[in-house]
Amino acid sequence: MQKDIKPTLQTQAIWSGESKPFANNASITPIYNAVTFAYDSVEQWQAVGSGEQPGYLYSRSSNPTVALFEQKMQILEGAQAATAFASGMAAISNTLMALLTPGDKVISITDCYGGTAKLFSHYLPRLNIVVETYPSDCQDELIEAIGKGCKLVYLETPTNPLLKLLDIKLISQACIKANAILVVDNTLASPINQKPLELGADIVVHSATKYISGHSDVIGGIACGAKTLIDTIYAYRDITGACLDPNAAYQLIRGLKTLPLRVTQHNENALKLSQFLLQHPKVATVNYPGLIEHPHHQLAKSQMSGYGGLFSFTLKTEDFDQVKTFLNNLNFAHLAASLGSVDTLIGPPSVTSHAEFDREQREQMGIFDNLIRCAAGIEDADDLIQDFEQALALLPND
Ligand SMILES: *Cc1c(COP(=O)(O)O)cnc(C)c1O
Repeated sequence: MQKDIKPTLQTQAIWSGESKPFANNASITPIYNAVTFAYDSVEQWQAVGSGEQPGYLYSRSSNPTVALFEQKMQILEGAQAATAFASGMAAISNTLMALLTPGDKVISITDCYGGTAKLFSHYLPRLNIVVETYPSDCQDELIEAIGKGCKLVYLETPTNPLLKLLDIKLISQACIKANAILVVDNTLASPINQKPLELGADIVVHSATKYISGHSDVIGGIACGAKTLIDTIYAYRDITGACLDPNAAYQLIRGLKTLPLRVTQHNENALKLSQFLLQHPKVATVNYPGLIEHPHHQLAKSQMSGYGGLFSFTLKTEDFDQVKTFLNNLNFAHLAASLGSVDTLIGPPSVTSHAEFDREQREQMGIFDNLIRCAAGIEDADDLIQDFEQALALLPND
């Protein structure tokens, strides 16, 4: 008899959910573009409809290719259940809308992803849902606020673009006492670097568009967590219709298979570039949790198994023309939004993600004009370092 083996994440990314043969013994999952699924008899159709027999009815509700993506993510995050969405924002907004009702209170941080921050500042208050946000430096105040009661706590760690960390385990303990649901956006870390559910979170959400896809060629999202909560979120998704397309699901499954390999290289490249920048005379500060100089490095070591591909840094000069000179002269980096792609992506948050704020507001958030955010790709680290070095050399010495 075959002996059971407990596989690591690297093996699970490839094999999880794929143990049964696919139709016609295909070795990879077919893309089921079918909108509807036909049955031999009304009785059989009814049996599937009532849940007596496994099967599919209509692809807005469930689809075999999408289900395989959900199953793989569920295993990688160590969750009881998962439900996939058309985008990260669909996953986040449907999760919040499914779990909250008028009169509820949400506690979160001020530096959430822009779209999420807009839900907090604009759309949830319209439904009489109170949202209280705290700067990620103010973890003690955040925990104190949770103690006063709330329905849901929403976190991102590390934060973007300043790479601050919050202590998921500590905050989850406060949530248990307050009977609050803890949701963590794990997009920046990916399940390879951080497992929020093991640290006490109830739900993990992802923009699968980033590391899970890995190639900047597909938009998707997912929520993973306890079955009762995911069932509620799924029921809402079924009605809002924010489902993932089967072709996109296929691309995400394909991306997942190399996720552990890619993330290892993203981690290494971000660390090497950060270390290079930290000692460079034209660089003032570097934000990367993998640096021993990072204020939350000890926490990063305890709650993450890798530090991710995203980092940010400020040049010594405050002259934005010099920021432009540096960026415009890089060979191996796209000047582009997003992160988690095989190619390095870089840009100045002051004129991109944070362009809607005026300078004073930005500076209050710690977003100075000379801040540069970089999502390291999986190129050779030494090539990236040489490229940064030649572009920095074009800036005048002070
Ligand atoms: C990109 C991103 C999102 C939004 O995801 P989309 O797939 O673009 O909708 C949410 N959270 C974080 C942290 C992100 O980086």
